[in-house]
Amino acid sequence: MFFKTIDFSKYSSIKIGQPAKVLMVEKDDQIPQNRYLIGGANNLLLSPNPPPLMMLSKDFSAISQKDDMLTIGAAMPTGRMVSYAKKHDISGFEFCSKLPGTLGGMLAMNAGVKEYEIFNILHSVEINGKWIPAKEIEYGYRFAKLEGVAARARFKIQKGFNQELLENLLNLRSNQPSLPSAGSIFKNPKDDYAGRLIEAVGLKGAKRGDMQWSEMHANFLVNLGKGNFFDALYLINLAKEKVYNTFGVNLQEEIKIL
Ligand SMILES: Cc1cc2nc3c(=O)[nH]c(=O)nc-3n(C[C@H](O)[C@H](O)[C@H](O)COP(=O)(O)OP(=O)(O)OC[C@H]3O[C@@H](n4cnc5c(N)ncnc54)[C@H](O)[C@@H]3O)c2cc1C
Repeated sequence: MFFKTIDFSKYSSIKIGQPAKVLMVEKDDQIPQNRYLIGGANNLLLSPNPPPLMMLSKDFSAISQKDDMLTIGAAMPTGRMVSYAKKHDISGFEFCSKLPGTLGGMLAMNAGVKEYEIFNILHSVEINGKWIPAKEIEYGYRFAKLEGVAARARFKIQKGFNQELLENLLNLRSNQPSLPSAGSIFKNPKDDYAGRLIEAVGLKGAKRGDMQWSEMHANFLVNLGKGNFFDALYLINLAKEKVYNTFGVNLQEEIKIL
C-alpha cells in the first residue's frame, strides 16, 4: 500500500474537489475497511471534507481469458474493456463504450444504458477473496449490494462483437453535454425521467456560480469552469425541493456525495 495525492479538480469527471491523499491498495494487501473506495470518480461529488479515501492500484487492471471465461480486474477502465472485446470478437460489452469509469464502479452502480446493464452479463465477482455468483447478489436500477470491494469479475465469453449496436448506443448519447459532469445526478423515478421533472420545474439551464443544470440534458449538472461543491449541492437541493413541492416526487441521487 502507498499513498498518492490525487487532485480531484482534475481527476473527477465533474472537475470539483481538491488534492487528497488516497491510499493505493496493491494486489496482496488486506483491503482496509475504514476507507471509501473510489474508481474513476465519474459518479462522485467530493466535498471539502471527504472521508478517508482509497483506490485499487494498477495491480487490479489485468484482463485474461481461460476456456470460456473472461476475468477482468476491477480497476480496468471501461474503454479498455470495450477495445479488448472488439479485438477478441466478444459480445456483451458494447454498451460500456463512452460510459466512463472502471469495472468496479460499474459493478457497484450496476451501470448501464437502456436495457443493457453490467449485471446482465456478469458471471461472478471476487469480494474479500471469495468468488460470489452474480445471481446471489441483490441488484437493481443503478445499485448493487456488493458488501465489499470488488477486486475482479468474471464474464462468460459469448462470441460476436456487435459494432452496429455500439454505434446505435453511441448515437443515443448525442444528447449528453460534453462539459464536465458526473453523469446523471438523480436516478429516474419509476415510469418518469428526472430530467423531465427538473425541466418541468423550470430549472433546465439554471445556474449558481459556475454550476448549471445543463441546457442539453436537465439531469446533468455541468461545470462551466470554476464550479464548486457548494454551488453544485445548492442546485441539487433546489431541484429536490422544487420537484417534491410540485410533483410530490422524492428524487434520489444517483451520484455519491462524499
Ligand atoms: C458523461 C457521463 C455519462 C455517464 N453516463 C452513464 C450512463 O449512461 N449510465 C450509467 O449507468 N452511468 C453513467 N455515468 C456514470 C458513471 O459512468 C458510472 O456510474 C460508472 O460506473 C462510474 O465508475 P467509476 O469507476 O468512475 O466509479 P466512481 O464514480 O469512482 O464510484 C462510484 C461508486 O462505485 C464504487 N466503487 C468503485 N469501484 C469499486 C469496487 N472495485 N468495488 C466496490 N465498489 C466500487 C464507489 O465506492 C462508489 O460508490 C456517466 C458519467 C459521466 C461523467
